[in-house]
Formats: sequence, C-alpha cells, structure tokens
Amino acid sequence: MPEKVGSAAHPKGLYVLFATEMWERFNYYGMRAVLVLFMTKALMFDKVFASNLYGSYTGLIYLTPLLGGYVADRYWGNKRSILAGGIIMAIGEFILFFCGMLYKSNPDIAALLFFSGLGFMIAGNGFFKPNISSLVGQLYPAGDKRTDAAYTIFYMGINVGGAIGPFVCGLVGDTGNPDDFKWAFLAGGIGMLLGVITLQLLHNKYVVDPQGKTLGLTPANVSPKFYKPITMIVGLLLFSLVTIGLIYADAKIFSYLFYLLIACILLIAYIVFSDKSLNSIEKKRVAVIFVVSFFVIFFWSAFEQAGASLTFFAEEQTQRDLGFFLVPTSFFQSLNSIFVVTLAPLFAWLWIKMGKREPASPTKMALGLFLLALGYLWIAFGVKDVQPGVKVSMIWLTGMYAMHTSGELCLSPIGLSLVNKLAPVKFASLLMAVWFTANAFASKLAGVLSALYPDGKTTYIAGFAITNLYDFFMMFVVMAGVASVILFVLASRLKKMME
Ligand code: GLN
Repeated sequence: MPEKVGSAAHPKGLYVLFATEMWERFNYYGMRAVLVLFMTKALMFDKVFASNLYGSYTGLIYLTPLLGGYVADRYWGNKRSILAGGIIMAIGEFILFFCGMLYKSNPDIAALLFFSGLGFMIAGNGFFKPNISSLVGQLYPAGDKRTDAAYTIFYMGINVGGAIGPFVCGLVGDTGNPDDFKWAFLAGGIGMLLGVITLQLLHNKYVVDPQGKTLGLTPANVSPKFYKPITMIVGLLLFSLVTIGLIYADAKIFSYLFYLLIACILLIAYIVFSDKSLNSIEKKRVAVIFVVSFFVIFFWSAFEQAGASLTFFAEEQTQRDLGFFLVPTSFFQSLNSIFVVTLAPLFAWLWIKMGKREPASPTKMALGLFLLALGYLWIAFGVKDVQPGVKVSMIWLTGMYAMHTSGELCLSPIGLSLVNKLAPVKFASLLMAVWFTANAFASKLAGVLSALYPDGKTTYIAGFAITNLYDFFMMFVVMAGVASVILFVLASRLKKMME
C-alpha cells in the first residue's frame, strides 16, 4: 500500500528496521559489556594490552562501514548486505563462545579464536551498520517532515538494544566466574540471529518506499555474478580474514591505525577540495564538516571509555554490593542507553520550548563537550582523596553516565544530520565517511587513553604524570573542557560558514 505523503503515522517498515537494529545493538553492546573483563579475567591480558586492543577493535568497527556502504551501493543492495553482515557478526559471537570454552584447556587455540571472533565482528558490522541506517531515510519521500522523527525512533531502537544487551549478557556471562563469559557471547550471537530472522521475514513486505516498492534490493544493471551466494560467501570470508589480520597487526605488531585514518581523511579532503565543480560556498560548508568532525574526536574518545577504563573502575573501585545482590560490572554499560531512552524526550521538549532561541548545531555540540567534561569532573570529585583499594558509591558512575548521555543527546544526532545537510550531493557518502573516520580515530584514541589507567603505577601523557584516578579523570575534564571552549568561540564563525 502506498503511504500517504506527510501523514503523521510512520510506515511499518520503520518498526521492522527498529527491531532488526535493536537486536544488532543487543549483540554489539552485550559483547562489549564483557569484552575487557573477558580479556583481563579469562585471557589474563593486562589492562594496557586490553585497553589498546579495545581501541583497535572499536576503531576498526567504525572503519569497515566505509567498505560495506560502498559494496551495498554498487553490488549487493542494502538488504543483502545487512543480512550477510548480521550472519557474519553472529558467527563472530559464536567463535568467541568457543574461545570462552577453551581459554583454560587450550590457550593457544583460544587466542586464535579470540582474534578471529573480533575480526568477524568487525567485518560483519561494516556491512550491517551503514546499510540499515541509510534504509531508514529511504522509507519517506524526499523532504518529508517525518524523517527526523524516524531517525529519533530508530535511535531509540539502538538504545533499547544497548540497554538490554549488557543487562542480559551481564546476567548470564558476568557472574564472577570467568568460565561463564562464554554465555554472554552465545546470548549476543542468538540476539543477532533474531535480528537477521526478523529482517528476512519482514523486509520484502514492509520495508518499502512511499510507492510500495521494496527497498534495498540489488541495484539495477548489476551482473548476477556479483551477488551469487558463493561469491558473497567467499568474499565475506576473505574480508573477515583481512579484518582478523588488521586487528592482530594493530594490537600485536605495529599500531598503524592512527596513520591509516589520518591518510583517509587527507585523501578525502584532497578529493573534495580539489574538485573544480564546487563553488566557494560549498567548500566552506564542507570545511565545517571537517572542523566539526575534528571536535567530535574529543567527545567520543572520552565517551568510549565506557567499555574500557570505566569498566575497570566499575569492577574494582565501585561498591556494587547491595547486600542482597552484587550488581555485575557489565550492567553499568547499560546506563548510557537507559539514559538516552529516558532523557531524549526531555531534550526534544527543551529544544521546542526554546523555540527561536534554540542553539545552532555547533553551539549544541560545544555544549555536549561541556556536559561530558562536567561528568568527568563529577567522578573526579568522587574519587578525590579516596585511599587506593577503597570502593566508592555507585552514585558517581551513575551520575557521570547521566551527564555523558546528556552530552551525547546534544552532539550525536545533530552531528549526523549536519553532515547530511552540509554535504554537496556529489560527495554525500564520502563526507559521511569523514564522520565515520572521526569516530574510528576517537575509538582508537579511547583505547590508548584507557591504557593510561593508573593501576598502582604512574602513567604519563604529554609530560604530565597520572598517579591516581583523580588525575586520570581530570585528564578528560581538561581535554573535553578545552575542546568545548574553543568550539563555543568558533561557533558563530562556523554558523556563518554554513549559510
Ligand atoms: N550509541 C550509538 C550507536 O551505537 C552511537 C555511537 C557512536 O556514534 N559512537 O549507534
């Protein structure tokens, strides 16, 4: 049935994508909730190595969507790419499950399985994530007012999954017995398969454009040889081998990822700025995308501590014993998503209430950085003068996550739509890649910063000593605070450049 243009109700396809994405995020965040715990308590990696590996993993997670988006646009279409990516991620979880079974009896095989599981997760995510996001917009006619609301609803799907994943996987996997971590990976894999089944059953009927035509099918004029099942299977397995090699090399041999990401950004900047068909107004708008992407690095690299240093902190320095129940460490990774779901309506209301005084996008992003710095300031006070070994109240982590999430709600949804609005059509995907690359850079940096966690030893950054948790958290206050102030100052200039 064709949808009525501009009608307030949303097409059913939105809820199909919502459910599919919810299960995928259940799998991703459920696995992430136990990842560094599994590394340090079962595989016995030290915190420095676990942190760096976490950075390599999450960094590559944001890099592969560049390829997954490209292959879908040219050869496979969105639907096939999402299903294939989902299956590859589920396989990744099942490999990690076997790793969790064998880590004691056969550590060498377990290490091989561990890197392989991560490689499959990275490869699968690359095909899943960009393609499902781009389908959401295609459900509506161009310029439909419901599109923004649709992305907000979709964002809720992300966070329902992000809240339930760590909760369920934590309950079955983070029990205090390292032998149980495997159940978290199994639960993640099953969740991912539920997402694949949901889409497989409902896509053709409901994920349709306003004229009722199924979306995300194979692009026109593509030779069937490119999407024969055997071609896809071989292609994806080879790609997974590459991602296994990439994560292994970055973590174990030489940390090349930063250089690769910088090279990507410079190359894209060269391609776009040397294009003669763009006028100076368009180039100014593109420059805003680069500037804003630069600033979000400071946000996500502090924010993504959630899966690394902040998990060490939850595990070792937070009083989690309620008397009748020991709160699993992994539950703290649900808090961000829980706060997104509860606080998002408040922010939506606030922006409407402010009407004409609603801040411009760069100002909101500066505010996001400020709230992030405030969250770290809060927890820095929570640990100030606390003796090593003494555990602090859960209120500190909980309050910090509430502030971080408020920051996310100011910065994240706006960032994506800003890139969409400012990019010349010709370079829409390439400039989206800039945004993803900035996320990848930030995630890799998050791992490097988490490795500075002062675990009974002094660590150093740019000549400053980090001797205790107060210093460690203050590092993020300074980083995000300075970035916030600079962005506040630049905001009016950026606003002019955007017009
Ligand atoms: N939590 C959101 C998601 O998983 C956004 C994360 C990000 O952009 N770094 O999709």
